[in-house]
Amino acid sequence: MSKGTLYIVSAPSGAGKTSLVAKLLEVRSDLALSVSHTTRPPRPGEQDGVHYHFTDAETFLAMIEDGAFLEHARVFDNYYGTSRAAVQAQLDAGKDVILEIDWQGAQQVRRLMPGCQSIFIVPPSPETLEARLRGRGQDSDEVIERRLGEAVKEIEHHVEYDYLVVNDDFDTALGELQSIFQANRLRLRPQLERHRRLLENLLASGGRKA
Ligand code: 5GP
Repeated sequence: MSKGTLYIVSAPSGAGKTSLVAKLLEVRSDLALSVSHTTRPPRPGEQDGVHYHFTDAETFLAMIEDGAFLEHARVFDNYYGTSRAAVQAQLDAGKDVILEIDWQGAQQVRRLMPGCQSIFIVPPSPETLEARLRGRGQDSDEVIERRLGEAVKEIEHHVEYDYLVVNDDFDTALGELQSIFQANRLRLRPQLERHRRLLENLLASGGRKA
């Protein structure tokens, strides 16, 4: 059995998911982020192996053939996938692992890893969603419309998740995410793995005195 817990975090773009997860990783050393493979080209500032493993379509399709992905999906016009081996190695090392993936990948992971926990993040209002998608105002109305449509499609799947976080105030949302991770770490199964010796000693100490 894996020692760590697998978490799925999904959100429409514009919900602030990536910034929240980045902050969470800063404050919790017991968490690791799975670095996905993608065929989409890097955006300015994105580094290969850090934000994504940037791959060409041919390599990606060969990896699907080899069964290298725990899940994979076509999102917008590109392929995205999660390396099965990388995730398993981190879980076996006792790390909790976050997958930042879309609803299609989430459905696949839930089927394969029933013990996973899934979190959906939404923006606080349609106006905020649209404002965040408009970004710096450099995109055409057509592009914005398309992004909004895709965001709504993602939001339609919120009911499939275990937890829902509304990202209005960043620090509040971060605190709520932290509570989810903290509560899950205190569940009996992982606590037994960590504290087996303590519990054995506690039980044995009662036996000695009797
Ligand atoms: P972006 O290209 O903006 O980084 O990500 C676009 C979408 O792809 C986001 O919804 C993100 O969660 C999703 N995504 C990123 N990596 C993966 C992955 O490995 N698998 C799946 N299914 N979706 C992913």
